[in-house]
Amino acid sequence: MSEQQPEPVALAWQDVVATARRSAADGLVVGTSGNVSARVGDLVLVTPSGVPYDRLGPEDAVGVGLDGRQVLGELRPTSELPLHLAVYAETGAAAVVHTHAVHATAVSTLVTEVPLIHYAAAILGGPVRTAAYARYGTPELADAMLTALRGRTGCLLANHGTVTYGSTLDQAYERTAQLEWLCRLWLTASALPGRTPALLSEAQLAEVTEALKGYGQPG
Ligand SMILES: [Zn+2]
Repeated sequence: MSEQQPEPVALAWQDVVATARRSAADGLVVGTSGNVSARVGDLVLVTPSGVPYDRLGPEDAVGVGLDGRQVLGELRPTSELPLHLAVYAETGAAAVVHTHAVHATAVSTLVTEVPLIHYAAAILGGPVRTAAYARYGTPELADAMLTALRGRTGCLLANHGTVTYGSTLDQAYERTAQLEWLCRLWLTASALPGRTPALLSEAQLAEVTEALKGYGQPG
């Protein structure tokens, strides 16, 4: 099948598999508990359900249309496909990363919004919300996620995990890593008995968001 794929699709699949493997290697995902997707035109390449990432090769590419209909590959797409499709339907995302990262998932059971412990929240577009709980794979969960994502590039899913998106897989992945770090930081600072961490104000975060617009390499 791989020899029939146009080049951009083969490259995007390579990227999807590499990102999925990286999420496991970095400890953001245990086994096959997360999933990764990338959009190429009207095609969404997505990790299959229940196949270890180190066993995925070029011939295992799984692709669905924006309506979820499978158009490429034999393996079944992840059961969390509705989350991915909802993000593509509502945003200009080209990539989506979903994990059950441990610190972020722990925080999802404690708060409806991640406390502003660090200005890194600006990377996610502001204070990160927690989507209300609904069973995995359901349209209800996808709806709750979209509500939590409003004006953000990532959110927590209550008692479940994380979702982030970006214009590239690297960007979506980086946002997941930052979100997990942010949650770990808040848990660490909150762990001292009798002490409460100082938090940033929304105004302080807005100032950072403004500054970040000019951050990085020129051009
Ligand atoms: Zn999940």
